[in-house]
Amino acid sequence: MKTPCTLIDSNWINSNRLYIKRDDLFPFCFGGNKARKSVLFFQEIDKGNYDCVVTYGSSSSNHCRVIANECCRRGLQCYIISPEEASEPTFNQQMMTLFGAEISVVSVNEVHNTIEKKISDLKNAGKVPYFIAGGGHGNIGTEAYVQCYQEIKEQEQELGTYFKHIFFASGTGTTHAGLICGKLLAGDERSIVGISIARKNPRGRDVVINSVKSYIGDKANEEVIQDATIFIDDFTAGYGREDKRVINVIEDALKKYGIPLDKTYTGKAFMGMTEYIKREKIINESILFVHTGGTPLFFDGLIKHGEEI
Ligand SMILES: *Cc1c(COP(=O)(O)O)cnc(C)c1O
Repeated sequence: MKTPCTLIDSNWINSNRLYIKRDDLFPFCFGGNKARKSVLFFQEIDKGNYDCVVTYGSSSSNHCRVIANECCRRGLQCYIISPEEASEPTFNQQMMTLFGAEISVVSVNEVHNTIEKKISDLKNAGKVPYFIAGGGHGNIGTEAYVQCYQEIKEQEQELGTYFKHIFFASGTGTTHAGLICGKLLAGDERSIVGISIARKNPRGRDVVINSVKSYIGDKANEEVIQDATIFIDDFTAGYGREDKRVINVIEDALKKYGIPLDKTYTGKAFMGMTEYIKREKIINESILFVHTGGTPLFFDGLIKHGEEI
């Protein structure tokens, strides 16, 4: 399913042209990269004889919202393990509940064991659970963004342009790995720049590299993969952490372009992209921002922002 790709600013900073790929408009449950990934996970689930799904994520998780909706429409029970350290009320969480997901809130150190126990309990009860890693991490999630990369190439042809730099929010690194694999498989020359929303170097970058290797196998060598992986960690104070500058970026993007961003993912990435363009003195190029979604978080932000006043 193709999402729109359009020019939103023909005279952006340093005379660059800013394009945006609206994966936030991916047509299922408020869209986003988790909706794009979920299509492929549920193709697997529909092929098998699974009768429930186990996954994990925080109360603000876009992934958990989408997975719970996909389960709900199929009548599959969805089990979500959620860390209590990130369990503040959100619209995503309200929707998980609406979709009938069973949410177990445990301390972050216990998430791993609780998942293992949930899966073994279900199996012992004769159930057939399908497990999806947090954020849809893994080769299936990577594949979704290899496909997205191919879409971007088609859209470049239609638009008659070439994106020299592609920016987006990098979390579990799956979106990042998919776009890198897409580029390597196509043999294109351009930079794929992930703006970290939480992890720091070197770990964050290593996770992306491992995901690329896991997907691409021996079709690219170590050096080529290292060169292709640009993981920028300068613009994150940590997952869900606030940065006043991000609020300004979000308000500006809505006023100027009519595009909602959020504080956890896309607002940070948009700010990081702008700073990177200035720092690296990138001039007069076509730049693509992949909007990875998170629309419900935009509304969480409005409420919280309003309450502070
Ligand atoms: C999960 C998420 C990301 C990060 O995607 P990864 O594939 O986990 O790196 C970015 N933006 C939004 C809105 C997300 O929900």
